[in-house]
Amino acid sequence: MLKTELSKKNNGGSKNMLKYYNYDIVFQEIPNEVTLAVNITNCPNRCRGCHSPHLQADIGEELNEDRIIAIIGKYASAITCFCFMGGDADTQQVVKLAGFVRLHYPEMKLAWYSGCAKLPEEFDARSFQYIKLGGYVEELGNLKSNTSNQHLFQIQPDGVMKDISWLFRTV
Ligand code: SF4
Repeated sequence: MLKTELSKKNNGGSKNMLKYYNYDIVFQEIPNEVTLAVNITNCPNRCRGCHSPHLQADIGEELNEDRIIAIIGKYASAITCFCFMGGDADTQQVVKLAGFVRLHYPEMKLAWYSGCAKLPEEFDARSFQYIKLGGYVEELGNLKSNTSNQHLFQIQPDGVMKDISWLFRTV
C-alpha cells in the first residue's frame, strides 16, 4: 500500500483542504510532457475574463493523498508530469501533495500553475520542475501571447527559475 499513516497525519495538518473539479491529460500546458492536469477549485484570484469561473467556487472533491494515488494509478504508464492547476488558497498543501507525488513517483515531473504574480514567501521552487506564474489579464493574453504577463519557468536543480515561456510563442 502506498498510503501511509504519515500521509494521513499530513493531510490533517492543513488549515484548508484542496478540492478539485476534474482532471485531464493535456499536451500543451507543459512543453514536451504528457501531463495529468488536476483543476483545483476555490481559486482566490478574481481575474477579469476568467476562462474557468467555476473554479472560483468552493466545489468538488477533496484532493488528498488517496485521490492522487487513485488518479495517477489510472494513467501512470502514460503520463510524464503531474500538474496542480491552481491551489493558491492553500499553497502549503500544494507543496505537501507535490512532495507526496515525488515520494511515490520519483520519475514523475511536477508542475504548478499559479494565478499569482509571485511565489509565496519562503517558497522553495525546487518542489516542482515547472511553475507557471501570473493571473489572466484579458488585454495581455495567455501564455501564447507575446504580450502576456504569464510566464512558465523550468526550475533548475539549484532553484534558478528559467523562463521558458518562449516555447509557447513559437509553436
Ligand atoms: S487564476 Fe485562473 S481560475 Fe483563478 S480567477 Fe484567474 S483565470 Fe480564473
